[in-house]
Amino acid sequence: MTRTEKIKEHARNLGADLVGVADLALLEGIDTEPADLLGPYRHALALAVKLPNAVFEQLPGRPTPLYAQVYLNANALLDQIALRLCAHIEGQGYAALPIPASQPLDMTVFRSHLSAKAVANTAGLGWQGKSLLIVTPEYGPRVRLVTVLTDMPLQADKPLKNRCGSCTCCTEACVAGAIRNVSTDFHYASREEALDFQKCADKLVNEFSPMENIGKPICGICIQVCPWGRKLKGRGACSEV
Ligand code: SF4
Ligand code: SF4
Repeated sequence: MTRTEKIKEHARNLGADLVGVADLALLEGIDTEPADLLGPYRHALALAVKLPNAVFEQLPGRPTPLYAQVYLNANALLDQIALRLCAHIEGQGYAALPIPASQPLDMTVFRSHLSAKAVANTAGLGWQGKSLLIVTPEYGPRVRLVTVLTDMPLQADKPLKNRCGSCTCCTEACVAGAIRNVSTDFHYASREEALDFQKCADKLVNEFSPMENIGKPICGICIQVCPWGRKLKGRGACSEV
């Protein structure tokens, strides 16, 4: 077993459902906080935890307290997996830095230290869908993500080509009318190309977050409707959830 295979197996044993390796050279120029965050590292491990299908089947056009708690729990699990994976990598003599699963540094633009979606996309975990979510072949967008930066020499995975095709499910279902139904091969030049970000943010921050027992800017609707997460035959069928 190669070093890369062993690290991936270790991450799965810690609880990750999906693991990929991104070559940080492919992310050159990406916004980070601080600006030199990636400097000491060569690779990023992208880790995903699957969210339960049942929680999405219950969403009545808005987030529920159950979904809010599952979201929190998944982030906590991811942070624990990342922390323990870092300790494992350090134990082998290499540097490793966990980037928290959900730690927005600027709530007006929802930016964090580093985009976990960009890392997951580069690491081949999934493609960036029209909703800007990472859509994995295994679970669609029903995953949460975390990143571990490392200088450990690893074999990088290849980014996946976009498979949204002519699907319009998330565009039709978006509760803010924010998704523009724009296609891309690998990734969008900016998030504005795919999404009217302000419309989405206004909905989440002003309407959903203040709801009782929600308390955070989450939604879940574009996750709920994506056919790749619902295992629909004939991808793109936007039948009733
Ligand atoms: S999170 Fe909600 S408002 Fe934002 S794009 Fe998805 S469905 Fe639309
Ligand atoms: S719902 Fe359709 S268009 Fe939107 S991300 Fe999923 S596959 Fe892509």
